[in-house]
Parts: sequence; structure tokens; C-alpha cells
Amino acid sequence: MDAPTAAELEAHPVVQAAFVAAWADTLPDDVVLRHEEGGYIYTNATTGEILTRRAPPGGRDALDLSYPPLLPDCFLVATFHTHPNPSRLGFDPTPSSDDYIEADGSGVPWFVVTDVGVFVIGPDSRVGGLSGPPGYPI
Ligand SMILES: [Zn+2]
Repeated sequence: MDAPTAAELEAHPVVQAAFVAAWADTLPDDVVLRHEEGGYIYTNATTGEILTRRAPPGGRDALDLSYPPLLPDCFLVATFHTHPNPSRLGFDPTPSSDDYIEADGSGVPWFVVTDVGVFVIGPDSRVGGLSGPPGYPI
């Protein structure tokens, strides 16, 4: 079974629901409490099921995605996180230079959920497919 592409994942209802939930929890309209949310996207190598898990909440412009929980028969196929700071207030919603570096180094696509849409960076699909270590492949 091939790893799903970023486009396939972005169109998947489970992934879309995870993006909506993370965006709601990121509290973009709360000047004090807004913060990054996000997590991990997996494929079950036997069934093809797509699953997500959330990471602990992050800070105003940071989120630790270093520790994907390992799920039975599943491989990590992508990460996602929000950029909560509003573009209407002059914040740049696009992926940061660190995002690009970390996405390229992680071996899986990264989704960045913002108030101007979802950005996709990093590889187009999990490097090496559904094989190797179940978390980050490289
Ligand atoms: Zn980011």
C-alpha cells in the first residue's frame, strides 16, 4: 500500500475534521489565549484507515511535533498545525522558514492551517512509503 499523497489527505473527511477542530481550539480571535494547535496524521497499513492524534497545545508561534504517538499497524503520514495570529492584524500566516526546514527534514508532508487557507509543505507523501519506522521515516 502506498502512502497517501498530501492532496489525498487534504481531501479526506477525517483530516478536514481535524483541521476544523484544531482551528477552533487555536482561539484565533482571543488576543490573550490564541496559540498553535496541531498533531499527526496516520494511515493504517492493513486497512488504509486515516487517523489523527493531537499534540499538546503549543504557544503563540510554536508547537512541538517531535513525539508522534505510535498507533498499532499505523505509519505517520503527515503533520498539521495552526498559525493562529490573524493576518488582518499584519501577521504573516504563511509557513515559517523553520516550518519549511523541519518539514523537509521530517520525511512527511506538513499542513499549516491558517486564516487564509491551508498550506502544504515538505515532501508530497511519506518518504519510503508505508515502511520503516512507524513515526517519522527519516
Ligand atoms: Zn508553523
